[in-house]
Amino acid sequence: MSQTAFSTLNLHSDLLSNLDSLGYEAMTPIQAQSLPLIIDGKDVIAQGKTGSGKTAAFGLGLLNNLNVKRFRVQTLVLCPTRELADQVAKEIRRLARGIHNIKVLTLCGGMPFGPQIGSLEHGAHIIVGTPGRIEEHVHKGFLCLDELNTLVLDEADRMLEMGFQDSVDVIIDAAPSNRQTLLFSATFPDQIASIAKRIMNNPVQVKVESSH
Ligand code: ADP
Ligand code: MG
Repeated sequence: MSQTAFSTLNLHSDLLSNLDSLGYEAMTPIQAQSLPLIIDGKDVIAQGKTGSGKTAAFGLGLLNNLNVKRFRVQTLVLCPTRELADQVAKEIRRLARGIHNIKVLTLCGGMPFGPQIGSLEHGAHIIVGTPGRIEEHVHKGFLCLDELNTLVLDEADRMLEMGFQDSVDVIIDAAPSNRQTLLFSATFPDQIASIAKRIMNNPVQVKVESSH
């Protein structure tokens, strides 16, 4: 068996069969480097180019670590734009297909606020969204992060470029400090290094130069 086969990991069998259906045979380099650490509960900083498979890296990790029987928000994925949040939610739903009705909810700016309150009342395991809107739901008390286990910052460099640092800080203040934090980025400027130092707990850094 190849060292990069997903089956070498300690993933739930229903995730492995979904990977099979999706035709994902081998891990991409960033997945091979980061997934074992993520499954192990470590904080991880992963740097890799667009198209290197970062979504499935954190998506499989967070799904594997989810307690599906507990219908509370356990995972939050922050993305810089609505388009990216929709793509991430779609990929997580594909990876989670058929597993105990895992509920993934997207909460993004530029969408009506009221219906999002209704969706939050119905509950979710995983939330994917943009920082400004998530901050607003947290601030107004519609989104409780008391049971958050995993926080993902996807495209962290772009999120900071877009001025989302303050919103991210508010969200982090509302999250438990013993959570797992995963930071994905294409580049690693100083600002990311200083954020990581502030919000992460002994992060392990992985970097992949080429996309495949
Ligand atoms: P990134 O976030 O790093 O830009 P994506 O997560 O969007 O990359 O993945 C890029 C593409 O690669 C997607 O179409 C995804 O379905 C596909 N992909 C991800 N992991 C694998 C894999 N292990 N095997 C085959 N295709 C994969
Ligand atoms: Mg991505």
